[in-house]
Amino acid sequence: METSKKINLIYGRQIAIVGGGPGGLALARLLQLGGADVKVYERDINQKARVQGAIVDLHYHSGLKVLEAAGLMDAFKIRYMQGADSFRVVDERANILLDDFIPSGRYTFGDEHFRPEIDRGALRDILIDSLLPGTVVWDSQLINLTFSNGQWEMQFKNGTSASSDLVIGCEGYRSRIREYLTDIKSVYTGAAIIQGEIDDPKTACPEIYEIFNGGSLMAMGQEKMLTVQPRGDGGLTFYAASMYPENWEKTSGINFNNPEEVYAYLIHFYNGWHPAFHKLFKACSHFTYRPLNYHPLKLRWQTRSNIIILGDAAHLMPPNGEGVNLAMMDALDLSNCLTSGAYQNIEAALAAYEEMMFARTYPISEETVEGIKDFASPNNESIQKLIQLFGGDEKI
Ligand SMILES: Cc1cc2nc3c(=O)[nH]c(=O)nc-3n(C[C@H](O)[C@H](O)[C@H](O)COP(=O)(O)OP(=O)(O)OC[C@H]3O[C@@H](n4cnc5c(N)ncnc54)[C@H](O)[C@@H]3O)c2cc1C
Repeated sequence: METSKKINLIYGRQIAIVGGGPGGLALARLLQLGGADVKVYERDINQKARVQGAIVDLHYHSGLKVLEAAGLMDAFKIRYMQGADSFRVVDERANILLDDFIPSGRYTFGDEHFRPEIDRGALRDILIDSLLPGTVVWDSQLINLTFSNGQWEMQFKNGTSASSDLVIGCEGYRSRIREYLTDIKSVYTGAAIIQGEIDDPKTACPEIYEIFNGGSLMAMGQEKMLTVQPRGDGGLTFYAASMYPENWEKTSGINFNNPEEVYAYLIHFYNGWHPAFHKLFKACSHFTYRPLNYHPLKLRWQTRSNIIILGDAAHLMPPNGEGVNLAMMDALDLSNCLTSGAYQNIEAALAAYEEMMFARTYPISEETVEGIKDFASPNNESIQKLIQLFGGDEKI
């Protein structure tokens, strides 16, 4: 990898990125291109540890722009999932409400409407493989952070420790590093997702393919939402969303570690839905209950000169197809602020990054939180709104 040693704010500083998600890894790559001495401390035991979740789409003005800046578009073009950006919206009986099947070539790279999908694990691999050997320190779950003699001392769960001049928290929504900037706590939106993973859907629930169109499937009706997405390894992920009371995981009486109990709940809750959806639930051997939280809007903190956060650690919001893109854009802005030479000192650079990050994320977060009921528990009116938003002119 070619690096340049510009005179900039990172030169001579040891930088610790905590968390190797899309935000942290993109940042590591961009900083290394600027000549930084950077390590990524990641909780996962190794690179093969499975990345939770299905595909993510990258956007022209954010995720794809970052890959371009990172010199990784060629690698992305090899690994992205062609055709997976098509989607279909159906009602609870699997009647098609909107079919946005995108014939190959309708949108392509360079077109701002093109939102190519990639498996989360493949995106992670592209970013990791672009880093200098040994950059990611696996099995490093940060459990404590102290500051003395001008340096941060990080302690990890496996008993090891490391020091650094600048710590960047990219460890997602449960960030410990955020506590060093603000005592803000995330708030429950009122909606939650029951996530299911199916490794071998072609055998376990082939019926879903009669409805599913190779891309993403959204099923909406009876104030319930079900999204099904392909994974890069041939598996499927589904997200069954609805409005639930806070802490429902504990008060529901359902043991979410027992697939039979979750299945019994889902077929009751989705009573009257097409049998292919029930078969989908039956095929799932592992469910995760995910309450959807967000960081209160207009959150601000006092900029510090040696610690900062990005991605979900800084601006958690309910899933809206933007989270990975926003985390990667934070990485690009932060690396630019640190390496451009435009700022006199590191505090000014970090303050400038924070301004950009807040300005970008709050409008999106606000809109998503306001629309949470339409997303998780859509009524007829919100279904029509959604169809129009997605291009109702293509209704068939
Ligand atoms: C159900 C669901 C569906 C979603 N779908 C989409 C989608 O389709 N498109 C999209 O753009 N976004 C989606 N999102 C949002 C997206 O996943 C996040 O916004 C995005 O992953 C944030 O990236 P990040 O790098 O900030 O953090 P993360 O991706 O959360 O990565 C954090 C990393 O830090 C590591 N870590 C955590 N704690 C520690 C610790 N203490 N020490 C060391 N390492 C640690 C983790 O192992 C992980 O690798 C979805 C979210 C959910 C919940």
